[in-house]
Amino acid sequence: MSFRKSIYKTPAELHLMVAPGLATAASLDAVRAAIRPGVTTAELDAIAEDVIRSLGAVPNFMKEPGYRHTICASVNDEVVHGIPGDRVIQAGDIVSIDSGAELGGWNGDAAITVVVPDPSRPSVVAERQKLADVTEQSLWCGIASLATASHLNHIGGAIEDYIDSQGKYGILEDYVGHGIGRSMHEEPPVFNYRVRERGPQVKPGLVVAIEPMVTLGSIDTYTREDDWTIATVDGTAAAHWEHSIAVHAGGIWVLTAEDGGAAALAPLGVKPVPIPSR
Ligand code: MG
Repeated sequence: MSFRKSIYKTPAELHLMVAPGLATAASLDAVRAAIRPGVTTAELDAIAEDVIRSLGAVPNFMKEPGYRHTICASVNDEVVHGIPGDRVIQAGDIVSIDSGAELGGWNGDAAITVVVPDPSRPSVVAERQKLADVTEQSLWCGIASLATASHLNHIGGAIEDYIDSQGKYGILEDYVGHGIGRSMHEEPPVFNYRVRERGPQVKPGLVVAIEPMVTLGSIDTYTREDDWTIATVDGTAAAHWEHSIAVHAGGIWVLTAEDGGAAALAPLGVKPVPIPSR
């Protein structure tokens, strides 16, 4: 497969993606701090929107035709694309929040998964927390592999190998990661599992959103009556973690993490390098 040269951004363009990445990260930090029993997903949405607008950015999910919210909030058996509303978060819920910001014509996209404590159901909470942790660490393994990969399909192999090492989980195939830049969703696709096709070269200028979606059961999903929410057919819980990452001449930098991913990547032997401003 060949890709237009334009999937690779210039150094100046990469630097312009730092600010929308940080606005995205800030919105998720605020939502994470607000997740507790009794809060509604609409309230979480308002918190994310306030943070993004306070930083001079705009919520880029609103640019998707027909979508009027800042975040997606996907609870329990919902995997992705849950619409914020009057749903009340309960003890023991596993809550995935996806958020994105556009600033200066460039985009950020990231997601987190939080498990709400529930002392009355310790085994359910423990199983869901491990799912969230395995999914998050698989993301970091995929990110770390970008530092040395020759081609993009190495990322999916690294994600799959890590998840398989942790137990029996389902890696979604209906939805995958993507390039990101002037648009939130660009070429190329970023698979969360091993694929034969090598994909594009990993080289300076590549910016990708890596986003493993993992379930406690089967990978089969369906779309709810609202035409957005994606849920598991077998009703098992799901987790979703995502970061937007730039490859530049000096190394890699996680655009949607305040520290560029330094803390999470250190145990994996990768030191992210800030994108020079010039
Ligand atoms: Mg995405």
